[in-house]
Amino acid sequence: DLLVNQIAAGEVVERPASVLKEVLENAVDAGARAIEVQLEQGGVRRIRVADDGCGIARDDLELALERHATSKIASLDDLERVGTMGFRGEALAAIAAVARTTITSRAAGSPHAWRIAGDDRGTAPAALNHGTVVEVADLYYNTPARRKFLKSEGTEFAHCDEMFRRVALARPDIALQLAHNGRISHRLAVAAPLARVAALMGDDFVAHAREVEAESGALRLTGLASLPAYSRASRDAQYFFVNGRFVRDKLLTHAVRQAYADILHGARHPAYVLFLTLDPAGVDVNVHPAKIEVRFRDARAVHQFVFHALTRALAESGA
Ligand code: ADP
Ligand code: MG
Repeated sequence: DLLVNQIAAGEVVERPASVLKEVLENAVDAGARAIEVQLEQGGVRRIRVADDGCGIARDDLELALERHATSKIASLDDLERVGTMGFRGEALAAIAAVARTTITSRAAGSPHAWRIAGDDRGTAPAALNHGTVVEVADLYYNTPARRKFLKSEGTEFAHCDEMFRRVALARPDIALQLAHNGRISHRLAVAAPLARVAALMGDDFVAHAREVEAESGALRLTGLASLPAYSRASRDAQYFFVNGRFVRDKLLTHAVRQAYADILHGARHPAYVLFLTLDPAGVDVNVHPAKIEVRFRDARAVHQFVFHALTRALAESGA
């Protein structure tokens, strides 16, 4: 079973940032209002995420590090299928198979917290005021072949930072903090969406960006998109969220690039943070552990809407 978990972990746990993604998403799902992330050595040595969410009751804690439905994986075929299904209910088990994992949690109404460590599957009493603390240490300590593929501390931290930014942009209603090797790199109070964008992208971006706000039927696009005068845009200053979920999608990227085609002349990268919302029935979200794919029911309408909304915003007086 450990071996199966280790194989499965290869899909979901590519690097520290993928651990951080899963653990952050769990904290968000738990209704946290505040989340604190501490990383050591790019997250390889340690990832610690503390939240003030609903917590995990003792009985559920006993199961949290175990695969919810082990029987799902009886063959390699199944393994591939699980990869495309997105490891629901299996992220923590996969993480615990390749890193020293402990969870401390106090469910609302519980007189005290409980703690479970990946290597001994029983709970022990612990001290914690509320919420959950997940600690993932020594990633790939037991799978040296995988450890070899990890990059430098700086690179792994950059990936974690990027993951953190995506969650922070998507959830301005949650206070978030990120520290690396004891140094705080982000401290974000609850804010209005555009204020959160400013906090993460910088005042310079906001000063050289147009606000986007468009609506057509059930489609709505909001956010900020840089003007040509903004010179600091890099290849990874492009954020697109669909119904609150960060996506990299060819259709959306294409619509944005087309809206910029006439003003940027392809010379520079635009920077943008855009939030598209639409009827959930109009979009298929296939959440693979490593990538996020969306398929729109009416792709053409979505493309046109994004293109026109952005073109109009960029053309407004002053541009
Ligand atoms: P999934 O999120 O797909 O259910 P995970 O392996 O990520 O699977 O988590 C297993 C379960 O552990 C979750 O369904 C949730 O009930 C519980 N859990 C994990 N992290 C937290 C957290 N920070 N707060 C509350 N519950 C949590
Ligand atoms: Mg999860």
